[in-house]
Amino acid sequence: MIPYGRQDISEEDIQAVIQVLQSEYLTQGPTVPAFEKVVANYCGVQYGVAANSATSALHIACLALGVCKGDLVWTSPISFVASSNCALYCGARVDFVDIDPLTYNMSVKSLTTKLELAKVAGNLPKVVIPVHLSGQSCDMKAIAQLGKKYGFKIIEDASHAIGGRYLDKPIGNCQYSDITIFSFHPVKIITTGEGGMAMTNDLFLANKMMRFRSHGITRVPEEMTCQPHGQWYYQQLDLGFNYRMTDIQAALGLCQMKRIDDFVRKRHEIAKKYDELLADCWLTLPFQHPDSYSAYHLYIIRLKTNETKFTHREIFDRLRNNGILVNLHYIPIYAHPYYEVLGYNRSDFPESESYYSEAISIPMYATLTESEQQFVVDSIKKPLGYQNLF
Ligand SMILES: *Cc1c(COP(=O)(O)O)cnc(C)c1O
Repeated sequence: MIPYGRQDISEEDIQAVIQVLQSEYLTQGPTVPAFEKVVANYCGVQYGVAANSATSALHIACLALGVCKGDLVWTSPISFVASSNCALYCGARVDFVDIDPLTYNMSVKSLTTKLELAKVAGNLPKVVIPVHLSGQSCDMKAIAQLGKKYGFKIIEDASHAIGGRYLDKPIGNCQYSDITIFSFHPVKIITTGEGGMAMTNDLFLANKMMRFRSHGITRVPEEMTCQPHGQWYYQQLDLGFNYRMTDIQAALGLCQMKRIDDFVRKRHEIAKKYDELLADCWLTLPFQHPDSYSAYHLYIIRLKTNETKFTHREIFDRLRNNGILVNLHYIPIYAHPYYEVLGYNRSDFPESESYYSEAISIPMYATLTESEQQFVVDSIKKPLGYQNLF
């Protein structure tokens, strides 16, 4: 079996986790803040707030920006449901912006048109969540300009994108957003088992997120409504959650950060090889925007359906039957039953629809071997049993 993505755990990673297990603190010890600091420094951003998943981090990011009932949040339909669910958790309504046909990221053209219409109709979004699909940054400069013009806040869902760069700066530096979210799920660039982190340059937002991840509780006297009653004292200021990352997870993340640039470099080598081996095939290969250095979480191929007699489904099944666990990132969020009843119109998202009918994510991870890669390519080009057809 060849999965589409998987972790790379070294002996040093294992030792780092064991060290925490033998230490005083399994959670709320020194390792989570150390991990936050290392990720923040790597990205060139002021603050990192670790959480037990990117989903939790997205939720507390929305809460910190004041998303609540009656608000509107916009995101990309070609994403994992968490990019959108985070707004629903806050009682907000969600709408989607169609994707760009080249990058498959939120289209700035569609966003602009939708904003113009929303302004007239009086239903502008409070927050927009662009998603850096496969690790390639959205056109953040343009989105930030629109944010200023129309008064919305920005959360970058960079779950795929730690280690990637945009305009020669690390993704996560929040130059064009209020908050950026990373995921450390095992299929992502680095892992903590489960985990995520919210990056920001805004101390107020960082403090809010830290409270929301831990029941809404503060132990900082300056944040309290009165003088502390004593050393035991803390106050609950908001309705928060238990979204904390453990020191065990942070130790793994901290150790993985040492190899992040190697991981991404390796992913680029694999991508380059796929680019070469699949160049003559009836496929659209990943477009790389010159402003971006992708973290290459995913390698997404698209079928040129007019150039092959095989259907999308047939190619997908053939790869799966060969033990290659390809995937489709993603089913448009509005097409899930839970969302369907909220009343979206598929015809509003023609690029997402066409993407969904053609895209396949083929295996991409740092430890993918050359022979495995060759097998993937052969399986695409020369299907097993193909000869029997003639
Ligand atoms: C993986 C992912 C998430 C959720 O990450 P978790 O850490 O599993 O909660 C959110 N958004 C996108 C785009 C993702 O790929």
